[in-house]
Amino acid sequence: MSEKTCIYYITFRCNDSCEYCQIWDNKEYKDVVEAPLEKHLNNIQAARRNNAKTLEIIGGEPLLYSELPKILEKARRFDFKINLTTNGILYKERARELRGLVDNLFFLIDYPIQDEHDRSRGISCYNEAIEGIKLAKEMSQSPAIRFNITRDSIRFLPEMDDLARSLKVKVHIHQVTDFHGMKGLNPMTIDHVKYFFKKPNMMINLAEFEFLKNNGNNILFPRCKADITTITYLPDGEQVSPCFYNKGGRVGRENICYGCVRHEYMLPSFTLGIDRYRVLDWYSNWLNNRKEKKI
Ligand code: SF4
Repeated sequence: MSEKTCIYYITFRCNDSCEYCQIWDNKEYKDVVEAPLEKHLNNIQAARRNNAKTLEIIGGEPLLYSELPKILEKARRFDFKINLTTNGILYKERARELRGLVDNLFFLIDYPIQDEHDRSRGISCYNEAIEGIKLAKEMSQSPAIRFNITRDSIRFLPEMDDLARSLKVKVHIHQVTDFHGMKGLNPMTIDHVKYFFKKPNMMINLAEFEFLKNNGNNILFPRCKADITTITYLPDGEQVSPCFYNKGGRVGRENICYGCVRHEYMLPSFTLGIDRYRVLDWYSNWLNNRKEKKI
């Protein structure tokens, strides 16, 4: 059985209103009733039994979920590699509870400039994210920046590199999907992103950007293997398959799958199959791991 990634949308609530996010202003998600803690704990156990080894906690804003430490403790006991992505607004308040429970703590920074970041997020929160990173470093909690690039923010790659160097953290770069700003990202721009791959602070997966350059998933010959490489849970505790965006449809073959480059599903998919994406994924992980060790 292939190793899986458990993608856990722990809450759809959010204290940001990001311009590229589909969740915070979606009425359907606002009406979702969150499951009791016990259901989430059972899901964590079930995911581990189903060979999930990595747990991605996302949202909404996960730190709004009050029982989060209990879920992380359970995941720790099951020896998951735990990644948590936050906007950082509540980190100062909750840092002690989270101590030692997360392997990679990603702080979302949309722009390396306060005004632009705050505009993109619809709320003043740049300073909280930066202070959160500093505090997490002091507490040895392996913080990193997560930079979700759009066609607009891509021009700030050099400044983001400078910011990461000054904070002494890595920047994990992914592309924003399902946002009008990403449509038509041209090959030269993608090559510009790839140029930063060799920079010591920049964590880029070449397979992700090569896939984007080659127009993403082909619904006739799907590259997506989300059904066998990921397990997705929602805040109501229900499992959806093959993915968050295609609930109950055929993996890689529905209309929503046309040109899909959703990295949270595609990167696990690249660990299977034999083609250039698997090789690029392997090489990127190898080099990025070496960079991690050089911190
Ligand atoms: S929407 Fe994307 S991730 Fe989901 S099944 Fe289709 S191709 Fe895979």
